[in-house]
Amino acid sequence: MTDDTASRAARLLHHRKASLSPGDPIAPAIVPGTTFHLPANGTGAFSYSRAGTPTWSELEAQLSLLENAETVAFPSGMAAIAAALFACLKTGDTVILPSDGYYVTRVLATEFLQGLGVTARMLPTADYDSADLSGAALVYLETPSNPGLDVCDIRAVAERAKAAGARVVVDNTTMTPYLQRPLDLGADLVVAADTKAPGGHSDLLAGHVAGCDSALMARVRDWRRLSGATLGPFEAWLLHRGLETLELRLDRMCTSARIIAERLAVHPAVRALRYPGLPSDPSHRMVGGQMANGGFLIGFTLADAGVAERFLSACPYLAQSTSFGATHSSAERRARWGDAVPDGFIRLSVGIEPVEVLWQAIDAALAA
Ligand SMILES: *Cc1c(COP(=O)(O)O)cnc(C)c1O
Repeated sequence: MTDDTASRAARLLHHRKASLSPGDPIAPAIVPGTTFHLPANGTGAFSYSRAGTPTWSELEAQLSLLENAETVAFPSGMAAIAAALFACLKTGDTVILPSDGYYVTRVLATEFLQGLGVTARMLPTADYDSADLSGAALVYLETPSNPGLDVCDIRAVAERAKAAGARVVVDNTTMTPYLQRPLDLGADLVVAADTKAPGGHSDLLAGHVAGCDSALMARVRDWRRLSGATLGPFEAWLLHRGLETLELRLDRMCTSARIIAERLAVHPAVRALRYPGLPSDPSHRMVGGQMANGGFLIGFTLADAGVAERFLSACPYLAQSTSFGATHSSAERRARWGDAVPDGFIRLSVGIEPVEVLWQAIDAALAA
């Protein structure tokens, strides 16, 4: 963690301090009100909760500290992604999307944007560094990609995209603002599924958009108000609570992931392994610069689907579920969703279990 990131983590825990009066609660309130006292000629911070609520303001204060930018909270990662796409694109535009990224983003583009006259061009993440970006209005990237963990160079892609007249949006879900800062590297907008590590407890859907161009962020905010893609106050409060421990949880998750990846890489049952934190990994070139570390996701391949499913069932400390970034480690065979990966490929999201206990369980399940 850089000093800058460490200071953000500390300020995030105390962001309410300056606005507190004696007797105020240290934690923010959940305000369920939809409508606010507004007499004739009256002005207030809030009028109707589709446009803004006190609980969002508390959450967005934290998110803005983390991103060092304006932020708009959404009720899911996909709601944030849709807002960014609709804020940036119009009929006749071309958007470049990762062919190996989060698949729902691609389906949204092909099922809805194409019908409105937007052309979607798909590109593998590893090819972004060399591909011709000309003709695009928007270059959308996800690095490391999910689930393949391939990377591209955000700064270099953003420079080339800008030269070609395109805006740049980065899905930063797999890294979070603690581990990677796309806005500092030239992105116009960051989108993220806070459903993953920021929420962190598998009990909340949420997302956000961040950016420094206030005209563009005003369009994102308008999209939320006009489309009605709004986060409930209880969910906003839950994410606010989750964010307080994000830095602490990531620290444990990433340290453990590195240890487990090193051991899996030399395990005789493992046919192939991807973890950007290992020097032998093709994505390692971005670790230490663009990425603070290798993250908490590991992709590895066992002999076949049967062996992989037996391993997943045998390990007591792996939640057999989709999604990632929670306190509990979780894993699944991605081929079941049709990802272009081998049948025995497992995406493992390392949680906060004490690492030796977790490793012993994984090692025993691999032998089962
Ligand atoms: C989960 C995820 C999303 C979508 O988030 P939801 O909260 O499920 O809508 C988007 N991008 C990436 C990389 C994700 O992992």
